[in-house]
Amino acid sequence: MGSSSVFDSDVLVVGGGPAGCSAGILTARQGCRVNILEKNPQGHHKVCGDLLGPRALYLLQALQIGWPGSECHGLPIQGIHVYDDKRLKSAARFQSAGEEHAWGMTLRRDHLDGFLLERAEEAGCTVFHGVRFKGIVERDVRGIVCVAETRQGDRFFRARMLLGADGVHSATARAAGLYQRNAKSRILAVRGYFRNVAGLRDAVELYFLPHLLPGYAWVIPLGEDLANIGLGLRADACMQGGVHLARELERFVKEHPHLSRRVQEAQSVGRPQASAIGTYGQRIRRAAPHVLLMGDAGGFADPLSGEGIFGAIQSARMAAGVVKEAFAQDNFTEGFLAGYEERCKKPFDGAYRYAAFLAGLPVRDGPWKPVVRWGLNQVEKNCLVDSQYARMVAGFFTGMMARKRIWSTRWFRRTLLG
Ligand SMILES: Cc1cc2nc3c(=O)[nH]c(=O)nc-3n(C[C@H](O)[C@H](O)[C@H](O)COP(=O)(O)OP(=O)(O)OC[C@H]3O[C@@H](n4cnc5c(N)ncnc54)[C@H](O)[C@@H]3O)c2cc1C
Repeated sequence: MGSSSVFDSDVLVVGGGPAGCSAGILTARQGCRVNILEKNPQGHHKVCGDLLGPRALYLLQALQIGWPGSECHGLPIQGIHVYDDKRLKSAARFQSAGEEHAWGMTLRRDHLDGFLLERAEEAGCTVFHGVRFKGIVERDVRGIVCVAETRQGDRFFRARMLLGADGVHSATARAAGLYQRNAKSRILAVRGYFRNVAGLRDAVELYFLPHLLPGYAWVIPLGEDLANIGLGLRADACMQGGVHLARELERFVKEHPHLSRRVQEAQSVGRPQASAIGTYGQRIRRAAPHVLLMGDAGGFADPLSGEGIFGAIQSARMAAGVVKEAFAQDNFTEGFLAGYEERCKKPFDGAYRYAAFLAGLPVRDGPWKPVVRWGLNQVEKNCLVDSQYARMVAGFFTGMMARKRIWSTRWFRRTLLG
């Protein structure tokens, strides 16, 4: 490997999704030379629910990249409608303050990722499309050399920092010895697009179906008649229950008493696609010498809702801060970079701790199942009669309400006594 055949940079980012682009933008602004490897060609459409919640919207604004620009014409979302296996249970509406300040937004992922990749290039990053990271070939005190596959054969990339933002099956994590397979911290999810769905509004529809707990199904409007319809379930429950996601999606669309009426004239657009989501676990290792993991690669999605774009951008912000210090102190050891995990604890433990607890409740089996189900029924009943309570539940689910507030006496009294 002659030095002329090696692409040099300070930071090598693997993955051009929300985590990779955000990290690229932030580290380039800090003065680093950044290469981003993205295995897919331009215009790739990642499997997602296409919903940007309030936390993700806030972070996109905070990146100061001219979000949403003229390219990102998303649909503003102002509410959440919750259904059980039969009917509507609650309709929470959030403050409507015009399109610019919508509570949430839906936007196809090819548009979001394309926008972020462009902004990364504008910030000074070099983006290599169609280049797949394969592994680490050398690592010493000076840095790390990686090999990647391209159409023209293998290419080598050298950097002082390697940032793994290559999603839940992260090749970077594998190469750095950080890969952990834990079905409890993964969600398996499937989504399909449907045109001509009747009754779509500016609200996200969540369906809590007993046989899909601890998980849920969704109808997310992308326009007047186009919807992203999908469902997700924790991977261990999925495997134990022998749940076939694509079949469940078909059944949900055809058989749910409320939805099935609205899709009578609908056509599916393309085939449904499934993928996994890497959710937050406190025991996941995310740092090795010269290496940090972000986004789904580092397990930063919300364990309750599966929302991952927020965690991707937030973890990239944390990583960029640590990269800056590592360069300033010329220290890329595991001991130093482990500060990243500490730094992540503050925003993520707070945001996700109770989510992980609730997502782990025994809703499918075990002696506590009846108690948990009773609790869920109480929540549903209260939502029906109390719109403020319904807003609180929706705020809890989407992480907009500080989740520790469920331990407040008011919440408990209201939930238990109705
Ligand atoms: C069905 C479904 C619905 C979802 N709905 C939502 C939602 O509505 N809202 C939300 O916030 N989150 C949602 N999520 C989760 C969300 O999609 C992820 O959490 C988020 O995309 C994580 O961002 P990321 O940048 O870490 O990884 P990704 O978005 O997965 O990006 C990783 C990038 O790395 C590239 N890559 C992978 N391997 C390599 C390699 N070896 N070399 C080079 N490049 C590579 C990939 O092509 C990809 O572009 C959903 C997930 C699923 C599966």
